[in-house]
Amino acid sequence: MNNSQFLSTSFFQSDIWLFSIYIIGTFEFVFWLCNSFLICIEIFDFPSIDKYRIQKHKKKLRFQPDLIQLMKKETIRHQISIIILTPLLYYILNYFGHLDIQGPRPSWLTIIYQLILFILSEDAIFFWTHYLLHTPWLYKTIHKKHHIYKQPTGVVSILSDPIEGLQNQLAVWFMPVLLKEKHIFTLCIWIAIRVYQTVNAHSGYNLPYVSTQYWVPWIMSGTLAHDFHHQHGKWNYGSFFNIWDRLMGTHRLSTNYKTN
Ligand SMILES: [Zn+2]
Ligand SMILES: [Zn+2]
Repeated sequence: MNNSQFLSTSFFQSDIWLFSIYIIGTFEFVFWLCNSFLICIEIFDFPSIDKYRIQKHKKKLRFQPDLIQLMKKETIRHQISIIILTPLLYYILNYFGHLDIQGPRPSWLTIIYQLILFILSEDAIFFWTHYLLHTPWLYKTIHKKHHIYKQPTGVVSILSDPIEGLQNQLAVWFMPVLLKEKHIFTLCIWIAIRVYQTVNAHSGYNLPYVSTQYWVPWIMSGTLAHDFHHQHGKWNYGSFFNIWDRLMGTHRLSTNYKTN
């Protein structure tokens, strides 16, 4: 093997390369699997699914030409940014602890315990930073860009000002960075859960079984709450749970929406 072959082989087996491939791969797989389904619903308007549209008391606004253009542009920008920023994350995770890429996966007890910590930490950080983003100056300067979409669809979950993108990433990665021992397997499950949750929250449809609040509506935030947040530009600031919203008196759901 010559020197350049050796260097390229060792690069493709390196931890930073494998980390980037696993994290970006998991993100893209879950994101586009869910969004392909939602885009099909929009294009083909299946009546059996349209009855679950949350804002069916209003004219359908989604997929107007100017919004499509904006969504395409912002989605491409987001895709480029995750390719650039994911390798940086590898260094941050390793700086504050040890990130295991190629070792055996941890026990399921450790995985579940860590996932619970990730969810609770994300939920608290997301609520409070999102709450702050709704103060007049921050809303006008940063968060308004995400609220252009009064009737959101899945891809809207990643469309925001870059500073808000960082706020989202801070909530997602704060606890994984803080933990001493982390494994890529757990991080990939975490990314899959978080991406599914946020795409679902922006889907615009209260589909049975697939929405988190369908199972435990008294505690989960979910699609109905976040869609209401986009309709009115206030209330329901939480991500996974509605506990913080209930404590702060910001939990509201539409009285217009009737479940089928
Ligand atoms: Zn949103
Ligand atoms: Zn908001």
